[in-house]
Amino acid sequence: MPLPIIRLPGQKTGFDIGVEVTRRSGVDFNSCLHCRCCASGCPFVEAMDYHPHGVIRLLQFKQTEQALSCATIWLCVGCHTCSMACPMAIDIAAIMDALRQIALERQVPVAEPGILGFHREVLNTVARYGRTHKLEIMLRYKVRTRDWFSDMDVGLKMLAKRKLDLMPSRVKNIAKIKHLFNGLWEGRSHAD
Ligand code: SF4
Ligand code: SF4
Repeated sequence: MPLPIIRLPGQKTGFDIGVEVTRRSGVDFNSCLHCRCCASGCPFVEAMDYHPHGVIRLLQFKQTEQALSCATIWLCVGCHTCSMACPMAIDIAAIMDALRQIALERQVPVAEPGILGFHREVLNTVARYGRTHKLEIMLRYKVRTRDWFSDMDVGLKMLAKRKLDLMPSRVKNIAKIKHLFNGLWEGRSHAD
């Protein structure tokens, strides 16, 4: 017997989270073997509430609320380690992107406090320079959250190992990059 569909407040009848994720990501996840190769290589799996293949299982069972409100979709950094390990070539990172989009649009509370602000700072440096600038991301995030001292040890280690460039590097045609970002954050301030 199929599991019942859990509907979010205001959700239209007939909304199918699996169909919507496939429409946005172009990924057909129904070939998943649940072999767990994706989870075994994921660098953030220990912190996730659902393993990557677990999120696929939620989609297969149309568990909309669990899929959109879980911490996993926000902890995923899109590194594609899972996608490369998958014997069925399922692009899990693209699935996570689609789930984040849908969660924001439906104003589902972000399960990891502050993480959307961090995403925003990462994208802001890409919009400004065409590349990320880690030092600026960290400093702006600290100013935004006023959380000055957590992770200080990590920052100092990265500085000592010259992993943090003081000045950003830029792509040549920055105008094209800025064009891509026009209107990106409009109407999304609720989720910080
Ligand atoms: S590696 Fe691919 S097939 Fe295996 S569980 Fe993960 S998504 Fe499914
Ligand atoms: S893309 Fe996301 S789920 Fe896949 S290995 Fe990287 S962090 Fe884990």
